[in-house]
Amino acid sequence: AKENGRNGFAFYHQAMSLAVEKQQNMESELHQAIEEEQFCVHYQPLVSVGGEIIGFEALLRWQHPEKGLMPPAEFIPSLEVSGLIVPVSNWLLGHCSRQIVKWKETGFWQPDWYVSVNISPLQFYQADMVPTMQQAISEGGAHLTDICLEITETVAIENIEFAVNRLKVIRELGMMIALDDFGTGYSSLSYLKDLPIDIVKIDRSFVQELGQKSKSQSIVEAVTNIARAYELKVVAEGIESHDQLMLAHNIGCDIFQGFFIERPQVAEKLKRTYLTRDLS
Ligand code: C2E
Ligand code: CA
Ligand code: CA
Ligand code: CA
Repeated sequence: AKENGRNGFAFYHQAMSLAVEKQQNMESELHQAIEEEQFCVHYQPLVSVGGEIIGFEALLRWQHPEKGLMPPAEFIPSLEVSGLIVPVSNWLLGHCSRQIVKWKETGFWQPDWYVSVNISPLQFYQADMVPTMQQAISEGGAHLTDICLEITETVAIENIEFAVNRLKVIRELGMMIALDDFGTGYSSLSYLKDLPIDIVKIDRSFVQELGQKSKSQSIVEAVTNIARAYELKVVAEGIESHDQLMLAHNIGCDIFQGFFIERPQVAEKLKRTYLTRDLS
């Protein structure tokens, strides 16, 4: 038994150092990715009830020299752990800002559109987050009112007092705030009252069960009704079918996002395939 225990420990130890080594390799690759600008941004349209584009969510991608295009789930955790998410996010904000300017110059951009950017917990709690972001956006040439910041409720309630104050400052500067993945965390509808936000994004796990599970239907309805009472816009995320779109539409969601409407893609391609859609 003792012998087994030892071996067990040895295996455990080996597995641990492998995990540490993996993270270290990843980190040095990510450092290189920053230096060589291997990151890129895909934009996914957000559309209104009438099917018109009203904005885009900016989604980070890593064009890995050997592994190809990597989705955020595979590298954002390492960016978070290493703190590299902060410079990468600022790069992304600058990049989006320059893209907005290009879209304005070509007449593609409409005045009421916005680009929505995901803000990580680490970034949200940086002391100099606000001026750093302001600088990245201004240097790119866009207006602060062209940008919406997406934070999760988990981030917001980690330190609710701090979050409320920070969000107030951000909104006073003209940026919008969306509460992302709503319904997945320690959700309480009462946060919708306390937080100075503009938009609630209902998590796709609920949207995808519309028409299948009455519980999800009720949740989407409840969130939409409360949000309406607080004059917030509601985004239904992860719409993959016509049925889901119609159901979310009938419940009264304001904004729709998902593969059924448009997949995230590079800016150049987006502009070429741009059409206004009739959702009826
Ligand atoms: P998220 O903020 O919830 O972003 C939406 C995710 O849902 C995106 O995945 C998008 O491609 C995907 N999606 C959109 N429509 C559909 C649909 O109809 N069906 C399904 N199954 N998925 C859909 P993506 O791009 O892989 O991003 C995953 C997560 O990574 C994001 O979730 C966000 O939390 C994080 N992320 C992405 N970009 C950034 C970034 O620049 N900074 C930070 N901090 N996080 C980011
Ligand atoms: Ca998001
Ligand atoms: Ca705007
Ligand atoms: Ca989301």
